[in-house]
Amino acid sequence: MESFELNILGCGAAIPTTKHYLTSQIISLKNKLYMIDCGEGTQLQFRKMKLNFRRLEHIFISHLHGDHCLGLPGLISTFGLLGRTSDLYIHAQSDAEKIFRPILDHFCREIPYKVIFNSFSPFKKELIFENRSLSVHTIPLKHRIPTVGFLFEEKAKSPHIIREMIEFHQVPVKQINRIKAGEDFITEAGDLIPNKVFVRPADPSVRYAYCSDTAYFENIIPIIKDIDLLYHESTFTDKDIKRAKETFHSSAAQAAMIAKQANVKKLVLGHFSARYPDESVLLEEARTIFPDTILASEYLKLKI
Ligand SMILES: [Zn+2]
Ligand SMILES: [Zn+2]
Repeated sequence: MESFELNILGCGAAIPTTKHYLTSQIISLKNKLYMIDCGEGTQLQFRKMKLNFRRLEHIFISHLHGDHCLGLPGLISTFGLLGRTSDLYIHAQSDAEKIFRPILDHFCREIPYKVIFNSFSPFKKELIFENRSLSVHTIPLKHRIPTVGFLFEEKAKSPHIIREMIEFHQVPVKQINRIKAGEDFITEAGDLIPNKVFVRPADPSVRYAYCSDTAYFENIIPIIKDIDLLYHESTFTDKDIKRAKETFHSSAAQAAMIAKQANVKKLVLGHFSARYPDESVLLEEARTIFPDTILASEYLKLKI
């Protein structure tokens, strides 16, 4: 629970099928959960994956197509029935509140907690959330309606303390945080022990980007440069590129080209059209361009 983990709840496009649920993901970090998109069926998947709803305080909605947000009223209503009392924040473009508030006023009138909408502009990159563990920026995408992706960046971590050296130099407990912050230590005899004696370098901070739904869009490359993991939609194969263009979606090859140009470490393909009974065609197409690619699937947990 401490480290950055991506949970896939659903990765199908447009309609739920017997194979795929609609889009939703959970990032788990330091005992808190962050949801990205909430298609129909998300609350079921949430329970099946044994995620603790009390740890979820923030939901990020990419755009207002039904396959990404129609699970919200049911989820919010169920949380009420389960006795949630803490506030729930929904980060979305401003139309989301206009659409969902009347629905919540009708179906969720008696829930014992507040739903707070935090609206942002879908047209520019913006910092929309920050706490001690991470920050979230929007990534404007190219879709039929205003859409953003999200860049999750873990905050810089503290270096690892070398316990043996702390004991050896008899560093008082109350000084340990100062050593973590980079200070040297002065012994009672007045000797200066440099900071590097007490610490090993911190683990690198994780950067993850979610980009769905979108047509091929090179503008996102500078925003996602060198990140650890990219989830990019690949609704179609290159054979159906005409359909991809008409609907402002991407092919697997296009997702891979974005991953390659952005020099990301790993690519996860998702948002699969129901037209491909065997999704290995998408995987193979992407891997010819960007070998370190995997397919998303329901219940997949990726520790980064
Ligand atoms: Zn979609
Ligand atoms: Zn869409």
